[in-house]
Amino acid sequence: MFYVSISSSAIEKIKEHAGKNPDKEVIGLLTGRMDGNTLIIEDTVTGEIVSEKTKAILTPETIAKIADEILSGKIKGNIIGWYHSHLGFGVFMSEIDIKTQMKMQQFSPYIVALIIDPTKNEIGFFTVDANTRSPIMLTEDLIHVYAPEEEPIPPRFMQPPPPQFFYPPPATTKPPTEKAKPPLKHRKTPYIAITLTAIICLAILGAYIYIFRYTPVKADLDFYPYTNRVFYGETIRFNANISGGQPPYNCTWYVDGKLKVSQKIVNGTSSSFNYTADMLGTVKISFNVTDNKTEWSKTICFTIISNTFIEVLQPEEGSQQPWGE
Ligand SMILES: [Zn+2]
Repeated sequence: MFYVSISSSAIEKIKEHAGKNPDKEVIGLLTGRMDGNTLIIEDTVTGEIVSEKTKAILTPETIAKIADEILSGKIKGNIIGWYHSHLGFGVFMSEIDIKTQMKMQQFSPYIVALIIDPTKNEIGFFTVDANTRSPIMLTEDLIHVYAPEEEPIPPRFMQPPPPQFFYPPPATTKPPTEKAKPPLKHRKTPYIAITLTAIICLAILGAYIYIFRYTPVKADLDFYPYTNRVFYGETIRFNANISGGQPPYNCTWYVDGKLKVSQKIVNGTSSSFNYTADMLGTVKISFNVTDNKTEWSKTICFTIISNTFIEVLQPEEGSQQPWGE
Protein backbone atom coordinates (compact mmCIF):
# COMPACT_ATOMS: atom_id res chain seq x y z
CA MET A 1 0.00 0.00 0.00
CA PHE A 2 0.97 3.62 -0.40
CA TYR A 3 -0.10 7.00 0.87
CA VAL A 4 -1.84 9.53 -1.34
CA SER A 5 -1.25 13.25 -1.01
CA ILE A 6 -3.31 15.45 -3.28
CA SER A 7 -2.91 19.17 -3.82
CA SER A 8 -5.91 21.22 -2.77
CA SER A 9 -5.97 22.82 -6.23
CA ALA A 10 -6.19 19.40 -7.94
CA ILE A 11 -9.07 18.30 -5.73
CA GLU A 12 -10.86 21.61 -6.33
CA LYS A 13 -10.41 21.17 -10.09
CA ILE A 14 -12.00 17.71 -9.93
CA LYS A 15 -14.88 18.94 -7.76
CA GLU A 16 -15.50 21.80 -10.15
CA HIS A 17 -15.33 19.56 -13.22
CA ALA A 18 -17.79 17.08 -11.72
CA GLY A 19 -19.98 19.71 -10.05
CA LYS A 20 -20.43 21.67 -13.28
CA ASN A 21 -21.68 18.51 -14.97
CA PRO A 22 -24.05 17.00 -12.38
CA ASP A 23 -25.94 15.04 -15.05
CA LYS A 24 -22.93 13.97 -17.09
CA GLU A 25 -20.02 11.69 -16.26
CA VAL A 26 -16.65 13.36 -16.20
CA ILE A 27 -13.33 11.60 -16.59
CA GLY A 28 -9.73 12.72 -16.45
CA LEU A 29 -6.21 11.78 -15.53
CA LEU A 30 -4.17 12.53 -12.43
CA THR A 31 -0.60 13.69 -12.82
CA GLY A 32 2.17 13.81 -10.27
CA ARG A 33 4.92 11.61 -8.86
CA MET A 34 5.81 8.90 -6.42
CA ASP A 35 8.01 10.03 -3.56
CA GLY A 36 8.98 7.42 -0.98
CA ASN A 37 5.76 5.88 0.30
CA THR A 38 3.60 8.64 -1.08
CA LEU A 39 1.87 9.10 -4.39
CA ILE A 40 1.66 12.87 -4.86
CA ILE A 41 -1.18 14.09 -7.06
CA GLU A 42 -0.17 17.51 -8.27
CA ASP A 43 -2.62 18.22 -11.04
CA THR A 44 -5.33 16.85 -13.28
CA VAL A 45 -5.79 16.83 -17.01
CA THR A 46 -8.88 16.21 -19.03
CA GLY A 47 -10.40 16.91 -22.37
CA GLU A 48 -13.38 16.17 -24.50
CA ILE A 49 -15.49 13.24 -23.40
CA VAL A 50 -17.84 11.23 -25.56
CA SER A 51 -20.90 10.06 -23.74
CA GLU A 52 -22.60 6.99 -25.13
CA LYS A 53 -25.68 5.31 -23.78
CA THR A 54 -23.81 3.02 -21.42
CA LYS A 55 -20.38 4.59 -21.09
CA ALA A 56 -18.26 7.70 -21.31
CA ILE A 57 -14.82 7.70 -22.89
CA LEU A 58 -11.99 10.14 -23.46
CA THR A 59 -11.80 10.84 -27.19
CA PRO A 60 -8.67 9.74 -29.11
CA GLU A 61 -8.10 13.45 -29.87
CA THR A 62 -8.00 14.17 -26.15
CA ILE A 63 -5.54 11.33 -25.55
CA ALA A 64 -3.35 12.66 -28.39
CA LYS A 65 -3.56 16.19 -27.00
CA ILE A 66 -2.53 15.01 -23.53
CA ALA A 67 0.39 13.01 -24.98
CA ASP A 68 1.46 16.11 -26.88
CA GLU A 69 1.23 18.26 -23.77
CA ILE A 70 3.40 15.79 -21.85
CA LEU A 71 6.00 15.84 -24.65
CA SER A 72 6.04 19.62 -24.92
CA GLY A 73 6.40 19.90 -21.17
CA LYS A 74 3.07 21.66 -20.63
CA ILE A 75 2.04 18.84 -18.34
CA LYS A 76 4.49 18.19 -15.57
CA GLY A 77 4.93 14.84 -13.93
CA ASN A 78 3.61 11.44 -14.87
CA ILE A 79 0.23 9.89 -15.26
CA ILE A 80 -0.31 8.43 -11.82
CA GLY A 81 -4.02 7.80 -11.87
CA TRP A 82 -7.41 8.70 -13.21
CA TYR A 83 -10.64 10.14 -11.92
CA HIS A 84 -14.26 9.92 -12.88
CA SER A 85 -17.67 10.75 -11.51
CA HIS A 86 -20.59 8.60 -10.44
CA LEU A 87 -23.92 10.31 -10.80
CA GLY A 88 -25.76 9.80 -7.55
CA PHE A 89 -25.08 6.13 -6.95
CA GLY A 90 -22.19 6.57 -4.56
CA VAL A 91 -18.50 5.95 -4.54
CA PHE A 92 -17.35 2.39 -5.31
CA MET A 93 -15.46 0.48 -7.99
CA SER A 94 -17.71 -0.96 -10.68
CA GLU A 95 -16.64 -4.02 -12.66
CA ILE A 96 -15.50 -1.77 -15.53
CA ASP A 97 -13.67 0.52 -13.09
CA ILE A 98 -11.77 -2.52 -11.77
CA LYS A 99 -10.85 -3.56 -15.33
CA THR A 100 -9.67 -0.04 -16.19
CA GLN A 101 -7.65 0.18 -12.99
CA MET A 102 -6.08 -3.26 -13.63
CA LYS A 103 -5.02 -2.08 -17.10
CA MET A 104 -3.35 0.95 -15.56
CA GLN A 105 -1.70 -1.10 -12.81
CA GLN A 106 0.01 -3.21 -15.49
CA PHE A 107 2.41 -0.31 -15.85
CA SER A 108 2.89 0.43 -12.18
CA PRO A 109 1.21 -0.63 -8.92
CA TYR A 110 1.34 3.00 -7.81
CA ILE A 111 -1.71 4.13 -9.71
CA VAL A 112 -4.80 5.44 -8.01
CA ALA A 113 -8.43 5.74 -9.07
CA LEU A 114 -10.34 8.72 -7.68
CA ILE A 115 -14.12 8.47 -7.79
CA ILE A 116 -16.35 11.42 -7.04
CA ASP A 117 -20.10 11.57 -6.62
CA PRO A 118 -20.96 15.27 -6.88
CA THR A 119 -24.60 14.81 -5.84
CA LYS A 120 -23.68 12.93 -2.66
CA ASN A 121 -20.54 15.01 -2.16
CA GLU A 122 -18.40 11.88 -1.75
CA ILE A 123 -14.85 11.25 -2.87
CA GLY A 124 -12.96 7.96 -2.66
CA PHE A 125 -9.48 6.75 -3.62
CA PHE A 126 -9.08 3.18 -4.81
CA THR A 127 -6.56 0.66 -6.00
CA VAL A 128 -7.14 -2.97 -6.93
CA ASP A 129 -5.44 -5.95 -5.33
CA ALA A 130 -3.60 -7.40 -8.33
CA ASN A 131 -4.01 -10.98 -7.12
CA THR A 132 -7.61 -11.04 -6.00
CA ARG A 133 -8.92 -8.25 -8.30
CA SER A 134 -10.75 -6.87 -5.29
CA PRO A 135 -10.93 -3.09 -4.98
CA ILE A 136 -9.28 -1.48 -1.97
CA MET A 137 -10.66 1.83 -0.80
CA LEU A 138 -7.93 3.89 0.82
CA THR A 139 -8.73 4.68 4.42
CA GLU A 140 -8.60 8.29 5.59
CA ASP A 141 -5.30 7.80 7.42
CA LEU A 142 -3.64 7.13 4.04
CA ILE A 143 -4.89 10.35 2.43
CA HIS A 144 -3.67 13.91 2.80
CA VAL A 145 -4.62 17.14 1.08
CA TYR A 146 -1.88 19.74 0.88
CA ALA A 147 -2.19 23.48 0.36
CA PRO A 148 0.02 25.26 -2.24
CA GLU A 149 2.54 26.48 0.33
CA GLU A 150 2.60 23.20 2.23
CA GLU A 151 4.98 20.21 2.00
CA PRO A 152 3.12 17.47 0.14
CA ILE A 153 4.34 14.75 2.52
CA PRO A 154 3.18 15.14 6.13
CA PRO A 155 5.45 13.70 8.87
CA ARG A 156 3.07 10.78 9.54
CA PHE A 157 3.69 9.55 5.97
CA MET A 158 7.36 8.87 6.86
CA GLN A 159 6.21 5.67 8.56
CA PRO A 160 5.58 2.75 6.20
CA PRO A 161 1.91 2.44 5.32
CA PRO A 162 -0.17 -0.23 7.10
CA PRO A 163 1.38 -3.61 6.17
CA GLN A 164 -1.88 -5.44 5.49
CA PHE A 165 -2.19 -3.73 2.14
CA PHE A 166 1.48 -3.69 1.35
CA TYR A 167 2.56 -3.72 -2.25
CA PRO A 168 6.11 -4.60 -3.29
CA PRO A 169 8.11 -1.42 -2.67
CA PRO A 170 9.05 0.56 -5.76
CA ALA A 171 12.26 -0.59 -7.47
CA THR A 172 13.92 2.74 -6.88
CA THR A 173 12.81 3.92 -3.48
CA LYS A 174 13.88 7.46 -2.94
CA PRO A 175 14.45 8.71 0.59
CA PRO A 176 11.42 10.72 1.72
CA THR A 177 13.29 14.00 1.45
CA GLU A 178 16.10 14.31 -1.01
CA LYS A 179 18.99 16.17 0.54
CA ALA A 180 21.57 16.17 -2.22
CA LYS A 181 19.81 16.34 -5.52
CA PRO A 182 21.97 15.16 -8.39
CA PRO A 183 22.73 17.78 -11.02
CA LEU A 184 19.88 18.46 -13.38
CA LYS A 185 21.71 16.89 -16.33
CA HIS A 186 21.70 13.46 -14.64
CA ARG A 187 18.15 13.77 -13.45
CA LYS A 188 16.87 14.36 -16.96
CA THR A 189 17.37 10.82 -18.27
CA PRO A 190 15.03 8.99 -15.89
CA TYR A 191 12.56 11.81 -16.28
CA ILE A 192 12.44 11.34 -20.05
CA ALA A 193 12.03 7.58 -19.53
CA ILE A 194 9.09 8.21 -17.22
CA THR A 195 7.56 10.65 -19.68
CA LEU A 196 7.84 8.15 -22.50
CA THR A 197 6.27 5.49 -20.29
CA ALA A 198 3.42 7.87 -19.54
CA ILE A 199 2.85 8.47 -23.25
CA ILE A 200 2.94 4.77 -24.04
CA CYS A 201 0.50 4.23 -21.18
CA LEU A 202 -1.78 6.85 -22.64
CA ALA A 203 -1.63 5.38 -26.12
CA ILE A 204 -2.47 1.92 -24.83
CA LEU A 205 -4.97 3.13 -22.30
CA GLY A 206 -6.83 5.28 -24.79
CA ALA A 207 -9.11 2.39 -25.48
CA TYR A 208 -9.51 1.51 -21.84
CA ILE A 209 -10.17 4.69 -19.97
CA TYR A 210 -13.86 4.62 -19.95
CA ILE A 211 -16.49 4.48 -17.30
CA PHE A 212 -19.62 2.58 -16.83
CA ARG A 213 -22.87 4.48 -16.71
CA TYR A 214 -25.09 2.96 -14.10
CA THR A 215 -28.63 2.12 -15.12
CA PRO A 216 -31.06 0.43 -12.75
CA VAL A 217 -31.46 -3.29 -13.13
CA LYS A 218 -34.42 -4.54 -15.16
CA ALA A 219 -35.48 -7.61 -17.07
CA ASP A 220 -37.47 -8.78 -20.07
CA LEU A 221 -39.69 -11.56 -18.89
CA ASP A 222 -40.81 -14.08 -21.50
CA PHE A 223 -42.84 -17.24 -21.10
CA TYR A 224 -43.90 -20.11 -23.30
CA PRO A 225 -46.58 -20.99 -24.29
CA TYR A 226 -47.50 -17.38 -24.93
CA THR A 227 -50.87 -17.48 -23.26
CA ASN A 228 -52.21 -16.75 -19.81
CA ARG A 229 -54.60 -19.70 -19.99
CA VAL A 230 -52.89 -23.02 -19.54
CA PHE A 231 -54.05 -26.56 -18.88
CA TYR A 232 -53.55 -28.42 -15.69
CA GLY A 233 -50.31 -30.44 -15.92
CA GLU A 234 -48.86 -28.18 -18.60
CA THR A 235 -45.43 -26.65 -18.07
CA ILE A 236 -44.86 -22.93 -18.50
CA ARG A 237 -41.26 -22.07 -19.27
CA PHE A 238 -40.09 -18.65 -18.09
CA ASN A 239 -36.99 -16.78 -19.09
CA ALA A 240 -35.82 -13.44 -17.74
CA ASN A 241 -33.21 -11.45 -19.67
CA ILE A 242 -31.55 -9.08 -17.27
CA SER A 243 -30.08 -5.73 -18.28
CA GLY A 244 -28.68 -2.75 -16.43
CA GLY A 245 -27.37 -2.84 -12.89
CA GLN A 246 -24.16 -4.53 -11.92
CA PRO A 247 -23.57 -8.28 -11.52
CA PRO A 248 -23.87 -10.38 -9.42
CA TYR A 249 -27.63 -10.50 -9.79
CA ASN A 250 -29.80 -12.18 -7.21
CA CYS A 251 -32.80 -13.75 -8.92
CA THR A 252 -35.83 -15.23 -7.22
CA TRP A 253 -38.94 -16.93 -8.59
CA TYR A 254 -42.18 -17.21 -6.64
CA VAL A 255 -45.37 -19.13 -7.17
CA ASP A 256 -48.27 -17.47 -5.34
CA GLY A 257 -45.81 -15.68 -3.09
CA LYS A 258 -43.89 -18.84 -2.17
CA LEU A 259 -40.21 -18.85 -2.95
CA LYS A 260 -39.40 -21.61 -5.44
CA VAL A 261 -35.97 -20.75 -6.88
CA SER A 262 -33.24 -18.42 -5.69
CA GLN A 263 -30.10 -18.03 -7.76
CA LYS A 264 -27.08 -15.79 -7.88
CA ILE A 265 -25.89 -14.90 -11.37
CA VAL A 266 -22.27 -13.80 -11.50
CA ASN A 267 -21.67 -14.37 -15.22
CA GLY A 268 -24.49 -14.10 -17.67
CA THR A 269 -27.73 -12.20 -17.83
CA SER A 270 -30.53 -14.72 -17.88
CA SER A 271 -32.52 -16.69 -15.38
CA SER A 272 -35.07 -19.36 -16.20
CA PHE A 273 -37.78 -21.15 -14.33
CA ASN A 274 -40.26 -23.88 -15.23
CA TYR A 275 -43.64 -24.15 -13.59
CA THR A 276 -45.86 -27.17 -14.08
CA ALA A 277 -49.47 -26.24 -13.39
CA ASP A 278 -50.42 -28.26 -10.32
CA MET A 279 -53.66 -26.57 -9.31
CA LEU A 280 -56.75 -25.14 -10.93
CA GLY A 281 -57.70 -21.48 -10.90
CA THR A 282 -55.47 -18.44 -10.79
CA VAL A 283 -51.75 -18.66 -10.08
CA LYS A 284 -49.32 -15.77 -9.77
CA ILE A 285 -45.74 -16.26 -10.95
CA SER A 286 -43.33 -13.58 -9.81
CA PHE A 287 -39.78 -12.83 -10.78
CA ASN A 288 -37.52 -10.55 -8.81
CA VAL A 289 -33.98 -9.42 -9.61
CA THR A 290 -31.70 -7.21 -7.53
CA ASP A 291 -28.09 -6.12 -7.95
CA ASN A 292 -27.89 -4.89 -4.33
CA LYS A 293 -28.57 -1.32 -5.47
CA THR A 294 -31.76 -1.50 -7.44
CA GLU A 295 -34.53 -4.00 -7.71
CA TRP A 296 -36.94 -5.05 -10.43
CA SER A 297 -39.88 -7.42 -10.22
CA LYS A 298 -42.88 -8.52 -12.19
CA THR A 299 -45.84 -10.75 -11.51
CA ILE A 300 -47.84 -12.52 -14.19
CA CYS A 301 -51.22 -14.16 -13.53
CA PHE A 302 -52.24 -17.41 -15.20
CA THR A 303 -55.56 -19.16 -15.30
CA ILE A 304 -55.20 -22.89 -15.10
CA ILE A 305 -58.06 -24.81 -16.64
CA SER A 306 -58.84 -28.47 -16.44
CA ASN A 307 -57.50 -30.51 -19.32
CA THR A 308 -60.77 -32.49 -19.40
CA PHE A 309 -62.16 -29.54 -21.34
CA ILE A 310 -60.26 -30.83 -24.33
CA GLU A 311 -62.66 -33.75 -24.69
CA VAL A 312 -65.72 -31.54 -24.35
CA LEU A 313 -64.44 -29.12 -26.99
CA GLN A 314 -63.64 -31.83 -29.51
CA PRO A 315 -66.31 -32.15 -32.18
CA GLU A 316 -68.21 -35.44 -32.29
CA GLU A 317 -67.27 -37.76 -35.06
CA GLY A 318 -69.40 -37.29 -38.16
CA SER A 319 -70.86 -34.02 -36.95
CA GLN A 320 -71.63 -31.46 -39.62
CA GLN A 321 -69.13 -28.71 -40.24
CA PRO A 322 -70.98 -25.51 -39.25
CA TRP A 323 -69.38 -23.56 -42.10
CA GLY A 324 -70.95 -25.89 -44.67
CA GLU A 325 -69.95 -27.76 -47.87
ZN1 LIG B 1 -17.11 4.08 -11.93
